[in-house]
Amino acid sequence: MEKYDIAVIGAGIAGLTAAIYAVRAGKSTIVLEGKMEGGQIINTINIENWPGDMRVSGVDLIRKVKAQAEELGAKIDYVNVEKISAMDGGFEILGDMDEKILVSSVILAMGTNPRKLSDAMMKDAGKRPVSYCATCDGALYKGKNVVVVGHGNSAKHEVKYLEGICNKVYNIHHDEKIPEDADAVFVAIGRIPATECAKGLVEIDGCGYIVAGEDCHTTQPGVFVAGDARTKTVRQLVTAAGDGAVAAEEAVRYLA
Ligand SMILES: Cc1cc2nc3c(=O)[nH]c(=O)nc-3n(C[C@H](O)[C@H](O)[C@H](O)COP(=O)(O)OP(=O)(O)OC[C@H]3O[C@@H](n4cnc5c(N)ncnc54)[C@H](O)[C@@H]3O)c2cc1C
Repeated sequence: MEKYDIAVIGAGIAGLTAAIYAVRAGKSTIVLEGKMEGGQIINTINIENWPGDMRVSGVDLIRKVKAQAEELGAKIDYVNVEKISAMDGGFEILGDMDEKILVSSVILAMGTNPRKLSDAMMKDAGKRPVSYCATCDGALYKGKNVVVVGHGNSAKHEVKYLEGICNKVYNIHHDEKIPEDADAVFVAIGRIPATECAKGLVEIDGCGYIVAGEDCHTTQPGVFVAGDARTKTVRQLVTAAGDGAVAAEEAVRYLA
C-alpha cells in the first residue's frame, strides 16, 4: 500500500493551495475530496476580492487552482473521509473507498456546509422544493413567488439575486411561517463546520471549529488545519488560501 507524506482533506481553495505548497516542497501529496472540487465558492458568479482578477467566477478560479495543483504533482481522489486515526509513525484515513490510506501528516481543509432548515420548517415547506443556492436553482422559478429564509449577508445576497428573476421574493426569519403562495424555499441561515471526521483526533470548539491559531497547528502533532474549518475571525478565499500555504509549510517542517 502506497504511503503519502501528506493527505489534504478537502479540495476547496484552502486544500488546493495547501497541495500546491506541499508538492512544490517535494512531498508526495494526496487530496481527498468528498463531493467536487471547489467547495463553497463554486456557485458564486462574481468574485471581486480575489487579488489579480477584477471579476472571476468560482468555477473559473477553482478550475485554474486545481489544474495548477495537479500539474505540479498533487493527486486528487474523490473520497469522503469518515475517520482519521493516529497510529505509530503516522495516520490512517478511512472513508468511502476500498482501501484505507496511510499518511505521515494530515492537513484538514473541510470548510463548512450550509445550516439545514429545521424539521418544523421542512414540514411547513411540504412538497415545495427547498434549495440552499439561489445561483444554482433560482432560474427554475422565473416569474414565480419564492421565499428566502434568513437575514444575514448571504440571505440578503440571495434575495437580491432572486429579485432579478422571480415575481415576488419574501424574506423571513428561520422561525416564521412560509407564505402559502411561495413556490420554492431558499435557505441562507448560516453555515456549520464540516469537522465530523476530525472528532476524537483534534480539539474542536463548541461551535464545531477546529481549534488552531495562525500557525494552523491543531492539538494533534502532525495534523494541521486550513481555511474556514479553523477557529478564526475572517473566513474568506484569501485567508483560506493563506492558511493553506501556512499549513503545508508547517507540515513540511513537521516531516523534517
Ligand atoms: C455564497 C458564498 C459567497 C462567497 N463569496 C465570497 C467572495 O466573494 N470572496 C471571498 O473571499 N469569499 C467568499 N466566500 C467565502 C469563501 O467561499 C470561503 O471562505 C472559502 O471557500 C473557504 O474555503 P475552504 O477551502 O476553507 O472551504 P470550502 O470552500 O468549504 O471547501 C471545503 C471542501 O472540503 C470538502 N469536504 C468536506 N468534508 C469532507 C470530508 N469529510 N471528506 C472529503 N472532503 C470533504 C468539501 O466538499 C469542500 O469541497 C463566499 C462563501 C459563500 C457561501
